[in-house]
Amino acid sequence: MALKFPNALLFFFFFFFVFSTIAPGSYEDPTRRTMEEFSGYPFHSSHPIFSLSPVNLESLQKQFDELANFSDTPAPSVTRILFTENDVLARGYIKELMGKAGLSVREDAVGNIFGRWTGSDPELGAVATGSHIDAIPYSGKYDGVVGVLGALEAINVLKRSGFQPKRSLEVILFTSEEPTRFGISCLGSRLLAGSEALVNGIKESVDDQNTSFFDAAKSAGYVVSEENLSTVILEKGSYFSFLELHIEQGPLLEEEGVSIGIVTAIAAPASIKVEFEGNGGHAGAVLMPERNDAGLAAAELALAVEKHVLETGSMDSVGTVGIIVLHPGAINSIPSKSHIEIDTRDIDEKRRDGIVEKIHQSSIDIAKRRGVKLSEFRIVNQDPPAKCDHLIINALEVAVRQLNLSHKMMISRAYHDSLFMARVSPMGMIFIPCYKGYSHKPEEYASIEDIANGVNVLALTLAQLSLE
Ligand SMILES: [Zn+2]
Repeated sequence: MALKFPNALLFFFFFFFVFSTIAPGSYEDPTRRTMEEFSGYPFHSSHPIFSLSPVNLESLQKQFDELANFSDTPAPSVTRILFTENDVLARGYIKELMGKAGLSVREDAVGNIFGRWTGSDPELGAVATGSHIDAIPYSGKYDGVVGVLGALEAINVLKRSGFQPKRSLEVILFTSEEPTRFGISCLGSRLLAGSEALVNGIKESVDDQNTSFFDAAKSAGYVVSEENLSTVILEKGSYFSFLELHIEQGPLLEEEGVSIGIVTAIAAPASIKVEFEGNGGHAGAVLMPERNDAGLAAAELALAVEKHVLETGSMDSVGTVGIIVLHPGAINSIPSKSHIEIDTRDIDEKRRDGIVEKIHQSSIDIAKRRGVKLSEFRIVNQDPPAKCDHLIINALEVAVRQLNLSHKMMISRAYHDSLFMARVSPMGMIFIPCYKGYSHKPEEYASIEDIANGVNVLALTLAQLSLE
């Protein structure tokens, strides 16, 4: 994204027009100075004024409220599971908004929805933004939705402002970010990014009613089969850049009173399932030296996970044992079987994989020492983390400075569709504050003012990237 001369000129004029009304008075912007120096064109206050049209707060809030009505559970909770009736209705609602925004709408075989504003140079890779609208049971109305409705409003803001994109701008609604129905998270974006393993995984996927992915998609009006599944995969260079606007899902921005988080990297999890088998026995009759307690093996492994994570010395390494199930689960019975599930994340893939290896070694050692059998050690998934593109980060910094918004650099500890889009496009993410960091529950909330800040940052960044 190095500035070439004619682009720099366009860029300079655009920024001058846009920001001459946004950042009035004494605020002196260092970026504008840099652009002046670079372009060699001095700043003239006699240029015609082009102002960034304000976000329509009322209509945007109304859209959040209306979309939340497509839910299987009563308000304020939202439950919207892939390819259910409410999901289909919500998809229709978004397609209608795309149409109203003047975008040309296309859907792929698995129901990823694309709304495109064709630029003056349609041959160039497009600048895309988007997120998801599916919601886990009893969650809220902002996770994902901010990045879809917000993206559409960013397009509307640019249109109302008279902006003309050079690269096409595109809003994407990703299918099934949440793993609720088929156990596969980020299904749409993973497929777009070309995961061959997933192509096979989808063929075998059934939900808890034994409905196959193909049949569920069919009931939602999509024609997808083994044959056309690979048509979803994006061609290389389809996108010049990808951006996602999202609620933070953590408390930092709100606690620190900061308006915008610019994400620098997305941590990625590895999930592991482990099972130990011992002899079991009566809690009174079997004496301590005679025991092969599968439950204690699980407990020891849980502590080993914590130890290995802390040993890295990095705040970015985390590990969680969220599930321990003991069999037979009676107070007077020595556990004969234990099942543990482990989630470990990091922004450094090598470090994260090092933790996984140590957990594996500990499982073997614990089993040996305690005389139990390590009957399963399965790495369920091990996705690579993603770094945000530094040129997109720069563009975001220019935008927040121009809008005079406070911001901080941060890491996304949760993962998003962006993690997978990063495999096929330079990627960036914008976080906005959410109430107490709540997410995935009905109390999830982001104020319309905070959302509007995110929309403005997104609009300006899309505009910058589109002119590159
Ligand atoms: Zn989300």
